[in-house]
Amino acid sequence: MPTLNLDLPNGIKSTVQAELFINNKFVPALDGKTFATVNPSNGKEIGQVAEASAKDVDVAVKAAREAFDTVWGENTPGDARGKLLMKLADLVEEHVDELAAIESLDNGKAFSIAKGFDVAAVAANLRYYGGWADKNHGKVMEVDTKRLNYTRHEPIGVCGQIIPWNFPLLMFAWKLGPALATGNTIVLKTAEQTPLSALKMCELIVEAGFPAGVVNVVSGFGPVAGAAISQHMDIDKIAFTGSTLVGRNIMKAAASTNLKKVTLELGGKSPNIVFKDADLDQAVRWSAFGIMFNHGQCCCAGSRVYVEESIYDQFMEKMTAYCKGLQVGDPFAENTFQGPQVSQLQYDRIMEYIESGKKDANLHLGGVRKGNEGYFIEPTIFTDVPHDAKIAKEEIFGPVVVVSKFKDEKDLIRIANDSIYGLAAAVFSRDVSRALETAHKLKAGTVWVNCYNMLVPQVPFGGYKASGIGRELGEYALANYTNIKAVHVNLSIPAP
Ligand code: NAD
Repeated sequence: MPTLNLDLPNGIKSTVQAELFINNKFVPALDGKTFATVNPSNGKEIGQVAEASAKDVDVAVKAAREAFDTVWGENTPGDARGKLLMKLADLVEEHVDELAAIESLDNGKAFSIAKGFDVAAVAANLRYYGGWADKNHGKVMEVDTKRLNYTRHEPIGVCGQIIPWNFPLLMFAWKLGPALATGNTIVLKTAEQTPLSALKMCELIVEAGFPAGVVNVVSGFGPVAGAAISQHMDIDKIAFTGSTLVGRNIMKAAASTNLKKVTLELGGKSPNIVFKDADLDQAVRWSAFGIMFNHGQCCCAGSRVYVEESIYDQFMEKMTAYCKGLQVGDPFAENTFQGPQVSQLQYDRIMEYIESGKKDANLHLGGVRKGNEGYFIEPTIFTDVPHDAKIAKEEIFGPVVVVSKFKDEKDLIRIANDSIYGLAAAVFSRDVSRALETAHKLKAGTVWVNCYNMLVPQVPFGGYKASGIGRELGEYALANYTNIKAVHVNLSIPAP
């Protein structure tokens, strides 16, 4: 503390200012507290990071409020905000190797994926919202000739944002992009498991030229710093990504304090349907990618696969072979697809689910630890799973899939929709009518047809049911970050 010198396994050297980022400065926590961030590949401490308390959150909120009132919000025109976001996107691309290496070290995801997917998507998202910054207009309502009615899309103010550990950089960008484009200021809390890459981003935020106080980042724990954000009386809006359980608490905290606006992106147990007329090889590869990508740590993971009975055996044969071939191991090795789970806690949670699955269903593949250090779990497939089994109902958030067969299409839709969640779903079929009709019947915020996990900045993402409130990405996300003001101008109507 305060600077971590990182000698990254792929030869890259980097430093991270392991403090709180407030008013464009790195500062220690007021009470001097720190916590360890751990390398999930070996369970060893990477270094100590400043741990925010409620008092630090308060300081960060004051900085964000001051910036909102003086240098940001409607004080900076949209095109200037957009330019800064685009500059930040350029800097992300210039630092792609360094950012990806930090992400791999702290989170465990494969370096090649962190570089090719996560960091690339961070730049794309920032640039996309940079483009929106001067294009989010209100409307004129042509009521009659005697009046002028119009709306303004005004920034909400200070936004609290709480992000998880599964895509630390990408969630950072998903939160920053629409909030900054629309003129809000930010106090963001990273996940305690993965604080480092966002801190590196803070250096780039200063370099890009964002005024002090526009973005403030605090590292720390949910029940302390997270709760302080959700209860804060001077935060106008909160955006949260994480578990459904904590999402409920965030909403309660908002309701019992200042009724700050709330958007939530929560869990899922997404169904993935493979019809007999699907391109089988493609369906297998996408289905494996749908669940095993990011070690199963995706809120939209295709964790329930339903395969039409007549192709079930063939599907299973190919899916098993494909999953067996996925490279699990050192995130910095060239061919690695799957690294370790993010923490001992997540590893233990997943292993508990696997044990419960062994009692209720048939363990077809995996179900064991890989190696003897770090939190690696072999790709795992369960079959013959009763619909009400715990592993078929609850979000596991690991490389664990249940595969079932179906015969009757009506029954299939009922079962697919029988979940408290509704984040995502997928359909594989060569028959476009069948695929789209099924897509329309599924109660999910995203339905992929003949693919999985395709996410682009232009297309909204968010949940039905207990999977969330509001939408991220696309034009839709802008609405989460603006207050609509209606202005009524009387041109010539006499007073009543
Ligand atoms: P979590 O919901 O506890 O943590 C997510 C974020 O919320 C972190 O930044 C955390 O510090 C913060 N947080 C925790 N308690 C809080 C509180 N009381 N007030 C405010 N903020 C709080 O998730 P977890 O414990 O890390 O993981 C548990 C499960 O959540 C996973 O197994 C998975 O099922 C789910 N999850 C979902 C997502 C997603 O993208 N939807 C991401 C991570 C985890």
